[in-house]
Amino acid sequence: MPISCTGHITEWWLQGRAARKPTMPPINSNTNAATALQPEQRLLCAQQSFDSCCDSMGFLLCDSLIIQFMQGNLFSDVLRKRILYGFQENDRLNFAMKLLTWMARRFVAGDGISDALIATRKLNQKGLKATLDYLGEDCNRAEDARRSCAEYCALLKAIAESNIDSNVSLKLSQLGLGFDEGLARGLLETILVEAAKYGNFVRVDMEGSNYTQKTLDLFKEVFSKHKNVGIVIQASLRRSKKDIDDLVALGVRVRLCKGAYKEPASIAFPEKSAVNRNYDELARSLLKAPLPAFATHDDERIEIVARAAKEAGLGKDQYEIQMLYGLREKRWEELRSLGHTVRIYVPYGTHWIPYFYRRIRERKENLTFVLKNLFN
Ligand SMILES: Cc1cc2nc3c(=O)[nH]c(=O)nc-3n(C[C@H](O)[C@H](O)[C@H](O)COP(=O)(O)OP(=O)(O)OC[C@H]3O[C@@H](n4cnc5c(N)ncnc54)[C@H](O)[C@@H]3O)c2cc1C
Repeated sequence: MPISCTGHITEWWLQGRAARKPTMPPINSNTNAATALQPEQRLLCAQQSFDSCCDSMGFLLCDSLIIQFMQGNLFSDVLRKRILYGFQENDRLNFAMKLLTWMARRFVAGDGISDALIATRKLNQKGLKATLDYLGEDCNRAEDARRSCAEYCALLKAIAESNIDSNVSLKLSQLGLGFDEGLARGLLETILVEAAKYGNFVRVDMEGSNYTQKTLDLFKEVFSKHKNVGIVIQASLRRSKKDIDDLVALGVRVRLCKGAYKEPASIAFPEKSAVNRNYDELARSLLKAPLPAFATHDDERIEIVARAAKEAGLGKDQYEIQMLYGLREKRWEELRSLGHTVRIYVPYGTHWIPYFYRRIRERKENLTFVLKNLFN
């Protein structure tokens, strides 16, 4: 299952840094300054923060790897000398990129549809369902948004033809929500019509808070015409109680997650314990909606959901527990053997950097796990 780093994000990151930096607007501590920036300037700020995150992460990884080389923990002497020789001549950043690509394999099924289908078939053989995500977000060109739409249509056809048990998940910013709501709406509807042709379902992921309201508005508009679509709500946001109540009243299929984006305390709960409390409360409300999905790797949350569902008289086929590809694989099977419906979120594609970065940031053990595997 190969994954490459040939996506436009990677190219943009490796080639565009030098060109971007001189045009960066100054950022001061006045919080209004960030919101006063033009969209283009805000994008530059985001790109710069992303650059420095990737740089630090890449360099940190390189350093640990080099130490392991030097201590003789990796590979044979001959191979080590060859790699070090090549390494001295090469750019450190390229090396970090290759390492990151290797690490990301744990969380990403591969580059293309065929890789995604292979991964899904393996999950299905264990009684697990899947939701396939073609990686991509924050698209800023209509042609890229259209390309993502075409990929999703091809994916839905491939799922139907290969007879695997999977629906799809997508991000509206991948369909152009950031710069053209009409375009995003049209493309989402195209995908929903295609999904309906095969009796399939589409989940709209929830992104950072700059997209929350726009995503909900567009979703509700489209849901009035197409019922094979659901959405995601994040327990970390203070507004989510009201959003869940609205969606439950509309009969929407909702996936509840904690939230993967860093948000200010004015709109999100800063403490994990508060997010967990909110998750449990929202989960109880969500049990009144059709086929609610509980996305978490947190055993305590799963136990509370399962207990509440039982008390509400729901069977284990009337709600789903969802987890991410590459995380807690043994637990998927345990839950399945207890009779739960388990769905795995399987990302594929070449634009994996932001997704991978969120996984590493939210849990440092995800990083140590891959490193341990490397060094053992
Ligand atoms: C199917 C799915 C879809 C998602 N969709 C979205 C979305 O649309 N928008 C969005 O913002 N976010 C989404 N997320 C990400 C989500 O919001 C969280 O960022 C992510 O799931 C981490 O939170 P957690 O609930 O797993 O628990 P955490 O708070 O990260 O962890 C809680 C506890 O769970 C256990 N645990 C967690 N990870 C592991 C592990 N790897 N190994 C062993 N134990 C572990 C540990 O006991 C840990 O203390 C999705 C997550 C999933 C699973």
